[in-house]
Amino acid sequence: MKTMNRFHRRSLLTGAAGLLAGGFVEWLGLRGDFDHRDSVPRPRDARARYLKSIDALAAGDDAIVHVGHSTHLLSLGGARVLTDPWFYDPAHGGMRHTRGPAVRAEDAGPLDLIAITHEHPDHLDPMALDRLDKRALCVLPSATLAARVRALGFDQVEHLAPYRSLEHAGVRVTAVPALHDVHEVGYVLEHDAARVYFAGDTAVHGDLQVIAERFTPTAAILPVDGTRLRGDRRWVMDPAEAADAARVLGAALVMPSHADARFTDPVLRLWAEVIDGAAGDFAARVAQLPGVRCAVPAPGERVKLNPA
Ligand SMILES: [Zn+2]
Repeated sequence: MKTMNRFHRRSLLTGAAGLLAGGFVEWLGLRGDFDHRDSVPRPRDARARYLKSIDALAAGDDAIVHVGHSTHLLSLGGARVLTDPWFYDPAHGGMRHTRGPAVRAEDAGPLDLIAITHEHPDHLDPMALDRLDKRALCVLPSATLAARVRALGFDQVEHLAPYRSLEHAGVRVTAVPALHDVHEVGYVLEHDAARVYFAGDTAVHGDLQVIAERFTPTAAILPVDGTRLRGDRRWVMDPAEAADAARVLGAALVMPSHADARFTDPVLRLWAEVIDGAAGDFAARVAQLPGVRCAVPAPGERVKLNPA
């Protein structure tokens, strides 16, 4: 009984410390200099690579073009879907990125759908959304976030609870559960034989098996950088967890995301932990899985979903 009490007390203390630390990191990240200067060093050739990829999409191949961080342009049956738009640093919690985005938000091109997993500003950035194609339908995880995006001038905005679907521009979008320090959903995006699971920014969770059985994804985009506050639990998969998720999901193609962010604030650097070389580590682990192809595209690079 004594042991149980001690354990219980320790859990409570750890939880409270985690909440306090989380709040402090948010405050650090969102204070003064969160001015959205377009300060991300865009690789010289990334824009040209992106524009070439976009041209190639006109041929009608289903493909994923990596923009940067968790932002990807999916082409499914000719429909264009953008995931979790991030285009500016400093991003959430004083984050800066070592790669991407491939282009400026205003150069992302025509869009049919924008799928947003959660409210963190490296996934939902009002300034980036304001510069994207507002003819697109935005899909969000809650009515509150939907209202926020509608206020930016998007006419078509929907929110989906886990396992609810909608169809738009020939793409079936289903929200699926995710586990993060704020409310989040992932998405499965389907057109014909292509079934892409975009996990967002999630920790490992029990519904991965359900997603595998219900949707048999053909491709999965998984977060790998293992971001956490020291002493707190991990809210983003690390490379080993993401590789295990890839094994459970059984998709023939997997792609790491959320792998190029670094904290620059000295306090945050001490406190928040991000795994260096996470994408390479993930790729090496996935190489051990039979029949699974791992793509680690550069910003602007296109990965075909149905290679000939
Ligand atoms: Zn997040």
